[in-house]
Amino acid sequence: MPLNFSCTMCGRCCHGLRLPLGMAEARTWLREGGDVEIFCEAIPWPQEPPADDGVAQHKRKRSFPTASGTLPVRVTVSLLATFAGACPNLRSDMSCGIYERRPMACRIYPAEVNPFLSVDPLQKLCPPEAWETATVLQNDAGNWADETVADAVVRRRGADYSEADAKGRLCDLLGVTEAGLTNEGVVTHTPEPSQLLAALDVVLVEASNESFKPDWVLVSHRPNTLALLASAGANLLHAGDLADSGRRFIAFVEPGIYA
Ligand code: SF4
Ligand code: SF4
Repeated sequence: MPLNFSCTMCGRCCHGLRLPLGMAEARTWLREGGDVEIFCEAIPWPQEPPADDGVAQHKRKRSFPTASGTLPVRVTVSLLATFAGACPNLRSDMSCGIYERRPMACRIYPAEVNPFLSVDPLQKLCPPEAWETATVLQNDAGNWADETVADAVVRRRGADYSEADAKGRLCDLLGVTEAGLTNEGVVTHTPEPSQLLAALDVVLVEASNESFKPDWVLVSHRPNTLALLASAGANLLHAGDLADSGRRFIAFVEPGIYA
């Protein structure tokens, strides 16, 4: 069955957001006075998955290779514009003040970038009437019917893949080394905006083939997880010991949904 959707301009998705940004988008957001956080999550990667394992290959493309102690891991880094209340670009009539150059994520919502996730209206902020329309969002074949959405999904996913290594270098430059575990939670880092902007300026212009620093620390709130990873030789920290105010552990309610 196709999934129907038509935006009601309710403005809910422009409030209290964590908005995923590409690196150039993050630089623009910071230059215009916005806040950007770095979210890090890691997955143990003791061996390469089969080439036909689509989910694992998707995770691989979004991450960079490094290590925690003697455990090989891949780390996925997300840059998120964060704001409490209304987005600084939201006008009083609920229209977007930067519509023509709004971030890709704003063009996509409520569609999904991850090709292995289906849209769940119950997990979206859109009101019920937005789904009661004849306008098709996703057709029977699973394709996005709207060209703007389809194009933005391709570009956002492409940036996730092509910028994975550069985000690793960004972390190296900023001294960011703590990550949550995929399916458990993330560690958020909030460097000074000027510091993050300077690091983005470097990684956006300088390509590098250097290996990533292998000093990642895996953070979990689950004793069983910590015990398992300790036996694999990882560097570990209990989530409760992240005392530095610039870093925070956020548990997932379910993968991709933060507590
Ligand atoms: S940039 Fe525009 S579309 Fe995106 S959250 Fe802000 S107001 Fe909404
Ligand atoms: S929450 Fe949904 S319906 Fe409301 S403005 Fe955002 S996309 Fe449109």
